[in-house]
Amino acid sequence: MEINLISDTVTKPCSNMLDLMIDCKVGDDVFKEDPTVNKLENLVANMFGMESSLFFPSGTMANQTAIKIHTEPGDQLICDKYAHVYNYEGGGVSFNSGVSCKLIDGERGMFTADQVLSSINPPDFYHSPKTSLVCVENTTNKGGGACWNTTELKKIKKICKENKLNYHLDGARLWNAMVESNTKPKDYGKIFDSISVCLSKGLGCPVGSLLIGSKEFINKAMRIRKLLGGGMRQSGFLAACGIYALQNNIDRLKIDHLRAREIESILIRSSFIKKVEKVETNILIFQLNQNLSEESFLKKMRDNNVKLISMGDNKLRLVTHKDYTQEMHERFLNILSYFSI
Ligand SMILES: *Cc1c(COP(=O)(O)O)cnc(C)c1O
Repeated sequence: MEINLISDTVTKPCSNMLDLMIDCKVGDDVFKEDPTVNKLENLVANMFGMESSLFFPSGTMANQTAIKIHTEPGDQLICDKYAHVYNYEGGGVSFNSGVSCKLIDGERGMFTADQVLSSINPPDFYHSPKTSLVCVENTTNKGGGACWNTTELKKIKKICKENKLNYHLDGARLWNAMVESNTKPKDYGKIFDSISVCLSKGLGCPVGSLLIGSKEFINKAMRIRKLLGGGMRQSGFLAACGIYALQNNIDRLKIDHLRAREIESILIRSSFIKKVEKVETNILIFQLNQNLSEESFLKKMRDNNVKLISMGDNKLRLVTHKDYTQEMHERFLNILSYFSI
């Protein structure tokens, strides 16, 4: 039995999801004639109380599209130093949009409204790049699954309004944040100009993300998605999985969070651990003691058929998910309990 904890993206569609996939009606979505894609896009726009949404092959493409629309070449966006848009999208911010990032030195990938305010370049000072966008991430990935406080998100919105900045939420794991902080999609829809969400992570779909915003914004997004090569044809087969996931797989994220906390409670007591980032959702980041190298820990885990990933600096990451079962969980807790250097 392999225990794969490298990411919540490793899940495979369950048989109910596959059944829905086989039965769904499809058409050519580049002509907007796929009824299942249209249904998913309407469903998600309504969930968030926003005008419109668009289905994407990846979260990266959805974020990159939003950044392209919200900025002009030469502009600067503000994000945390841990941000996915800065660290893990292949340099797309500069490649696709000709934009630079002003990095905030935040806490676990999150920052304050004051930090945003002091990162804005004075608009009349033409020597500096023009600040035009603020990007936040919820939950934070490199920050270890931490959730934002909506009060701070609203304060940042006020700063954005006062300074004519656009405001984008990278919500790849927003579902995890919502079940943990008891917030609703509409709470976020009211705050942001645009939101990206992933179906291919905790929700267990094989492929897919959505970008959500105003009608005008999504019309622009349609053109950018096309030029990035993201116009898909009978993508209803994928959208059907998304509809199933939204109806069945959100509440169960609590189980993933509980299991992550149970792993945390064992790691905290382990002699080989230097630090465990406090678990809030399904991501757990921990640092090993100096006398135990990443390589030897990972090898011991591999010998036990457990996979996780290294984050550098003797830090490791594991992510719980739908296909990480109770049986695997009990086995993994055992492996950790009996682990010795
Ligand atoms: C996974 C992820 C994305 C998008 O990733 P894709 O693999 O392109 O779907 C974006 N932002 C964050 C924070 C993520 O964790």
